[in-house]
Amino acid sequence: MRRWFFNIAAAKSMLLMLATVVLWVRSGSYNEGITHREGHCAEWFSHQDGSCEFGLLTWHNLDRGCDWVDHNWEYESNTGLNYEFLRSRAEANHRVLGVEYIRTDHNFFTAEVYRVQYWLIALLAAVLPVLWIWTDARRRRRIARGQCGNCGYDMRGSEGACPECGTGAA
Ligand SMILES: [Zn+2]
Repeated sequence: MRRWFFNIAAAKSMLLMLATVVLWVRSGSYNEGITHREGHCAEWFSHQDGSCEFGLLTWHNLDRGCDWVDHNWEYESNTGLNYEFLRSRAEANHRVLGVEYIRTDHNFFTAEVYRVQYWLIALLAAVLPVLWIWTDARRRRRIARGQCGNCGYDMRGSEGACPECGTGAA
């Protein structure tokens, strides 16, 4: 049962990794994303130059805040705000490994951007598939040597289920 769960998780992780690599490559040529604008507020998911980001922009001096009623996300190229502009004015700029948080308080607006390098997402998504390949290779090696594929118990001379861990029991 645990093995089954592991297989599904590894397969999904593999898909995530492949999708990340496709987007990663694409982000080298395109600055694009989806944006949700409403009143004076905007939020977006976008990517460019090997990283993706979530951004939130709110304008000051307004009677009302963000309503977020319609949820119309639209595809755009040149999504979000100019990254270098934001960074040069950042009030807060935290960067750890491939993750960056930028907060900019401009006279007229506040912008927050969470940015993640695609290589970091691809690396994390690769962990389960690599583990899966490794454990599967180990299982095959054990069976080829006449051992239980699950625990390595010497199965030569044993019939049916592994006496050590029960693997193979009907
Ligand atoms: Zn066993």
